Amino acid sequence: MTTPLADLLAARIRSGGPLTLADYMAECLLHPAHGYYATRDPLGAAGDFTTAPEISQMFGELLGLCLAQSWLDQGAPSPFVLAEPGPGRGTLMADIWRATRGVPGFHAGAQLHLVEASPTLRAVQAERLAGLPVTWADTLDDLPQAPLWLIANEFFDALPIRQFQRTGEGWRERVVGLQDGRLTLGLTPPAPRPDLADRLADTAEGDVVETRPAAVPAMQAIAGRVAAHGGAALIIDYGDWGSRGDTFQAVQDHRPADPLAQPGRADLTAHVDFRALARAARPLAHGALIPQGVLLARLGLGPRSQRLAEGLSGAALENHLSATHRLTDPGEMGNLFKALALVPAQAPLPPGFDPAGKGWDDA
Ligand code: SAH
Repeated sequence: MTTPLADLLAARIRSGGPLTLADYMAECLLHPAHGYYATRDPLGAAGDFTTAPEISQMFGELLGLCLAQSWLDQGAPSPFVLAEPGPGRGTLMADIWRATRGVPGFHAGAQLHLVEASPTLRAVQAERLAGLPVTWADTLDDLPQAPLWLIANEFFDALPIRQFQRTGEGWRERVVGLQDGRLTLGLTPPAPRPDLADRLADTAEGDVVETRPAAVPAMQAIAGRVAAHGGAALIIDYGDWGSRGDTFQAVQDHRPADPLAQPGRADLTAHVDFRALARAARPLAHGALIPQGVLLARLGLGPRSQRLAEGLSGAALENHLSATHRLTDPGEMGNLFKALALVPAQAPLPPGFDPAGKGWDDA
């Protein structure tokens, strides 16, 4: 079964040639009429996938207090921007807000800025965060020049990627073309790519590497504000330090799908290369990377989970215990997901992060 977007993309390929994966991903996710995020709320049990804040309120509570402690550690500047790119249903920000109400001055000083491309999800966020001082922005560049405490969960994995395969004659880009009228993956002829020179050391012929062009200006916007005005960023996503081959994937109805089969109907993501994010931010800020499970445990997930369990029984208790396990267990989200913290060069890292960090200095 084809989709209206598949027909539009086929026409575009016929006239202009194959699309980079980044062009394909951007259209599939954000095309104004047919894009995946532009047209639906994909989150939760009834949607296509779920995320940590939708799994348990504890995620936002602990990370909210982590941000608030970092704000206190840097002298509690007021006013300040509390920002979230890709806020989904607004659940994470709602949990952060509730958990931080006891932090003196935090609510009074916070100006909430949400960076959201989807009109459908903006409406869901407006309802969820009704009554709070929220402003919406289209990109991170639109954030005010002010002290910035920012959290992003599963935002960077949705930014479009490009893929390149190493050959003896240079790099071939993986592109979306047409074969017998159907979208199909192909490779461009080999070409030199000076921007991939640093990947010659850690790849062999035949290996695929991924780049994420939009992540660089996004990180520069964040790190620039944090360095100039104070602040911190917590970036949580699945991925690792360095990119590891082909991680492009589609998810539909909680199951893996073919990324080319139904453009606009499946969520498309790829692993986040935290080293590349660190590289974009490094001249301005310093930071550290830690597995999500370790961070949440250090921030007090155990006692918080126990406290919540005391008020629960039956199916609600079982759900709560399985959510605790899912967020932290190394075989579930605990190790696949990582958290990157970013602060000004001289500032302390937020609670839970090791000062040594993961190879930050030679990112
Ligand atoms: N952080 C939420 C939602 C993750 S889904 C959670 O953890 O539940 C990805 C989110 O990023 C959605 O809100 C989607 O609409 C938004 N998004 C994707 N690409 C974007 C872009 N280029 N600019 C702004 N928002 C984007």
